[in-house]
Amino acid sequence: MPESTAKLIDGKVYAERLLARVTDEVAQLKANHGLQPGLAVVLVGDDPASQIYVRSKGERSLAAGMHSVTHLLPADTPQSELLRVIEELNADPLIHGILVQLPLPKSLDERAVAALIDPDKDVDGLHVINAGRLATGEPALTPCTPLGCMILLRETVGDLTGLRAVVVGRSVLVGRPIAQLLLQADCTVTIAHSKSRDLPAICREADILVAAVGRPRMIRGDWIKPGAAVIDVGINRVPFDDPVKAAAGRTKVVGDVNFKEASQVAGWITPAPGGVGPMTVAVLLQNTVTAAKRLAGIEA
Ligand code: NDP
Repeated sequence: MPESTAKLIDGKVYAERLLARVTDEVAQLKANHGLQPGLAVVLVGDDPASQIYVRSKGERSLAAGMHSVTHLLPADTPQSELLRVIEELNADPLIHGILVQLPLPKSLDERAVAALIDPDKDVDGLHVINAGRLATGEPALTPCTPLGCMILLRETVGDLTGLRAVVVGRSVLVGRPIAQLLLQADCTVTIAHSKSRDLPAICREADILVAAVGRPRMIRGDWIKPGAAVIDVGINRVPFDDPVKAAAGRTKVVGDVNFKEASQVAGWITPAPGGVGPMTVAVLLQNTVTAAKRLAGIEA
């Protein structure tokens, strides 16, 4: 196979840059307004991946100079107790951003939880009010991963006006908000999903292809328009290719795009891991700063 032709979009570099900006802004808010943005993260249960994400969110917010609170609740927490914790955080003046780590245990109702979070503190952007604001182009708190994807596209492709964008996946958390943001950036947007016909042909039209599916390496090299920007949101655990490691039960993370093939054709591509993932936490902190400024009446 020939050498890769695509330029690699290194999410870690852009995430560190954004974190540095957020850290500066937090210092200025403290110095000029006596305001310390505060983030509360709530984790229910003991899913190992979620524990890692939640720890990282807490550590990163402290490192940026923010106030950080983590609520660790047991897996059998009743809905009423989780809702009580959220109400307490809604009323807490030191907290400007509330994030409930998903997925929740099956016994809990994610929609009811999202609906109770104060929309002005909803830094995950999952409340219907924020989804509605995003859809109508009003200032919203926007879901972190989609906003992270847009920052990567702006930093690499630049002006997106008039480009054809295809988003594969239509979840409330990822696919739909990314499509809204691409539309706001004046792209011509197609949203594909599990019922779409001839997905490879749809993808081949894309100047910007965003994969948010959750199926390892589903998007093949010959689905990609030469020179396209490919953003791979997928995080999928698969056995190692090395049979010895695979037999030992070891797994690794791959994206929704077949990176080896796609990087021969694309113009830009995010690796997975190391592409979109690092942006998510950085944008979460940025959203918390935005929420803190809006709540304090400081122009955001
Ligand atoms: P969901 O399972 O909620 O949504 C998946 C979407 O993919 C659905 O809209 C589904 O279609 C569509 N889909 C499934 N199979 C196919 C197929 N064969 N062809 C076309 N479309 C298909 O997942 P999420 O949106 O929450 O997450 C997507 C991926 O992104 C996952 O791998 C997740 O781990 C990752 N992720 C990464 C984050 C990060 O920080 N990097 C953050 C959040 C998620 P339909 O609606 O018809 O069922």
